[in-house]
Amino acid sequence: MRVLALDNFITGSPQNLEPLQGNPEFEFRQADVNHGVFIGGDVRYVLHFASPASPPQYDANPIHTLKVGTIGTMNMLGLARAKNATFLLASTSEVYGDPLVHPQPESYWGNVNPIGPRGCYDEAKRCAEAYAMAYRRMHQVDTRIIRIFNTHGPRMQVQDGRAVPNFMAQAIRGEPLTVYGDGSQTRSLCYVSDLVRGVIAALERGDEQPVNLGNPEEVTVLELAETIIRLAGSKSRIDHRELPVDDPKQRRPDITRARKLLGWQPEVGLEDGLRRTLEYFRSVL
Ligand code: UDP
Repeated sequence: MRVLALDNFITGSPQNLEPLQGNPEFEFRQADVNHGVFIGGDVRYVLHFASPASPPQYDANPIHTLKVGTIGTMNMLGLARAKNATFLLASTSEVYGDPLVHPQPESYWGNVNPIGPRGCYDEAKRCAEAYAMAYRRMHQVDTRIIRIFNTHGPRMQVQDGRAVPNFMAQAIRGEPLTVYGDGSQTRSLCYVSDLVRGVIAALERGDEQPVNLGNPEEVTVLELAETIIRLAGSKSRIDHRELPVDDPKQRRPDITRARKLLGWQPEVGLEDGLRRTLEYFRSVL
C-alpha cells in the first residue's frame, strides 16, 4: 500500500523521515491540513494525527491547536468524503480532562476545563470527535475514533516537553529530573509499536464508537522518574517544580472495549518500552 504523509513540522522534524527516503511506496508533502489538501487519485484511508500533543507545545500554539482540531479535522473529513475513504481520528485521553472516573472507559464524558491552558487541546479534540460523528451521520463517512493515552518511543523530540523525553534527556545528561508537584499524579505509558498495532486494528476491525488505546500499567510520575534514573544508570537527583494548572491527577485506560472489539492489548511492558526509548535518546544525545 502506498503512503502519502503530510506534515507542517510545527512539532515534527524532517530527520524522522530519513529512514523512509528512497522507499517507492512512500511520498511526503510539506503541508498544513488547516489550509486544505488536494490529492489526485484514489485514497483508501485518511489518518488524521495532525496536532501538537505536548502540553508546553500546545500552550505555545493555542490557536493553531484549536484550528487543527476543528478546521483541520473538517478538511480531512472532507477529503475522506470526497475519496470515499475510511477516516481515522487520533483523539486523546485528554477528552476525559482531569477524570473523576478511574480507570477511564469510553462511556465517561470527562471533566474538562474549557478555559484553562489545556482547553485549546482538549476542546479541539472533543470538537474533532463531534465532527467525525457529524460527517458519519450526515454524509455516511466511515469513521473511527481512537483515544490515545500517553505513548512514547523513538523519534520523539528531545525538546518535546513531555515527561518521558524530559526525564530521559535529564537522566542521560546527569541533570536533575524535573518532577512537577509531588509526583503522586499517575500516568499509564504505552510503547509506540503497541499503539501502531492498535491503530491498524482500529482501521480494520473498529466501529464508529471511540476506542481507548493505551497501556493500563499505571505508575506515579515520581515512580516513572525513579525508574528512568535506574534504567539509565544515572546519578541524577529529583528536583520538584510547580505543578502545571489542570494537570490530570490520575490516568489509566480501561481497554476492555479494545480487547473485545479489536482483539488488541499492549505487549510491551513499561520497563521494556522505557529501555527501548532510552536507547534512542542515548543515540541522539
Ligand atoms: N511532568 C513532570 N515533569 C516534566 C514533564 C511532565 O513531572 O518534566 C508530569 C506532568 O505534570 C504530568 C505527567 O508528568 O503529570 C505527564 O505529563 P506529560 O507532559 O508527559 O503528558 P500529559 O499526560 O500531562 O499530557
